[in-house]
Amino acid sequence: MSAPTTRPRRVAPAPRALHAQKTRMRLCTLLLLCISLGATAAPREARVPGGVAYVTLAPADAAPAPQARFAGAPVLVTRRNGAWQALVGLPLDLPAGEHRLEVLTPSGTQAVAFTVRDKRYPEQRITLKNQGMVTLAPDDAARAEREIEEIRALKRHWQAAPGQAPDLDFVRPADGRLSGRFGLRRVFNGEPRAPHVGLDIAVGRGTPVKSAAAGTVLATGDYFFNGKTVFVDHGQGLLSMYCHLERIDVRPGERLARAQALGRSGASGRASGPHLHWSVILNGAMVDPELFLAPPP
Ligand code: ZN
Repeated sequence: MSAPTTRPRRVAPAPRALHAQKTRMRLCTLLLLCISLGATAAPREARVPGGVAYVTLAPADAAPAPQARFAGAPVLVTRRNGAWQALVGLPLDLPAGEHRLEVLTPSGTQAVAFTVRDKRYPEQRITLKNQGMVTLAPDDAARAEREIEEIRALKRHWQAAPGQAPDLDFVRPADGRLSGRFGLRRVFNGEPRAPHVGLDIAVGRGTPVKSAAAGTVLATGDYFFNGKTVFVDHGQGLLSMYCHLERIDVRPGERLARAQALGRSGASGRASGPHLHWSVILNGAMVDPELFLAPPP
């Protein structure tokens, strides 16, 4: 039986209007997805010591890609926001003020100025049971000195990776609480020591540690301070370093996908307990790894 014509009809949008509404909703979802993906696809800029600066070099259609140097070292160049931009790592001891990027153009070298503002990082006091890890015996001091030189050379590694843009889309290398932020001015057993140039993630012993982004294993080692360590090269002077591992499962030259496991966490080297120490190196500068992760909600 059909309903009487006087009965109020259920209000429903016309099929065409409904289709348009659905399309709008899909577009909105897509847009939001793109925005959220865009937020994680590249590091956030922080023009402070220990941060990163984007410096525009040329329009994105310029070919070949421009090249630039900072403090004598080549810097990463990427296409971003319709331009070729340098992504410059700013060392923790860089003074605030105006700095210059050398840009190599077909007609010669040009200087592009950019400003770095000051940042004072908080202090962290750490107690180590083993005083020998704070005041080193002569043999340990000599070993640590040699290793610092070796690590310094690795940090300067530059592989252009021709035709391959570095993977800037980082993931957190281990799931855990952030227990030690980048840049902390550290005091061990009451004695001031070098600042904390990485990010500590609290994970138990034996937790899988993943490569933050796609890359190639540059080196592995077992160091006095950093313990069992893996260096991953992401191209154009962007490296990541994973320290205090219990076990290393990769070899130099091995290609790693983003989030591929490279070892297990531990407390090797100078560590107050099991955790992952993760560093990011850009044009030889240790920079804040948190800038490469999606911002906290
Ligand atoms: Zn650390």
